[in-house]
Amino acid sequence: MINYTERIALLMQDIVARTPALSFINLAEVLVFGRFGRADADGAFATCHCLTLPESEPGYYFWRDRHTGELTRRSEWFITKTPIVRIGCTRIKYLISFVLPRFCDQSLTRSWKKELYPDAEPWFAKLDTIVHELYHIDPDASGIRRIARADGSHSPRSHGPLFYEQVASMVRGYLDSSPDAGMYDFLATDFDGLHRRFRGVVATTFRNFPSFPPAVKIEPMKPLTQPALYTEDDLHIREFTDGSARRLTRKGQHRAA
Ligand SMILES: [Zn+2]
Repeated sequence: MINYTERIALLMQDIVARTPALSFINLAEVLVFGRFGRADADGAFATCHCLTLPESEPGYYFWRDRHTGELTRRSEWFITKTPIVRIGCTRIKYLISFVLPRFCDQSLTRSWKKELYPDAEPWFAKLDTIVHELYHIDPDASGIRRIARADGSHSPRSHGPLFYEQVASMVRGYLDSSPDAGMYDFLATDFDGLHRRFRGVVATTFRNFPSFPPAVKIEPMKPLTQPALYTEDDLHIREFTDGSARRLTRKGQHRAA
């Protein structure tokens, strides 16, 4: 079987080594994992989750009577904080999730991204997504990269036309750097093809699959009831098929990218 998240992690190493704009990324602090999503359903292909946001000030939610304006109900005091994910001694700063099998079938065909890659093979869409998620990692290590507007101020949205063009130019730059095709050629095969070739597709997931550590966790200001720390013991290997993701009983090898 092909370990899809491991192959992506290895490809990321090669991309980061060959792409000056991404060379600041320490992939030991990035964990790649799989989420389930059908190929024929709409939704994201991948997501970059940041685990370095600072803890919030204590706060609470409240509800007012619409007519009198009177306070009718108030939640407990809480703080929001990111959970800790630690692999060995390394604190993970970013999680990058790939939605399987949907991502394996991502294609430039019928995608607006085709404009960015006029003569490219359909599977370039997947390489674009991988570079896109890496580009979300903020060089200032303060969260998700903020996109500067033309006037130099920061946009609250993390994407803009420039973001997509910069990703496309990094994808072309990577391929122009003569990487070993063995690093990325698994992307050329769709999910059915991978199944035929490798007899199965597996990926790292969290033990509480389909959950995973949330980027921000709301925590009551009283003793903890949920784990705030995840380690390699919380990672499983799952086999992804068209309709499900089944846990494999053999112990998988887990490591950061
Ligand atoms: Zn994005």
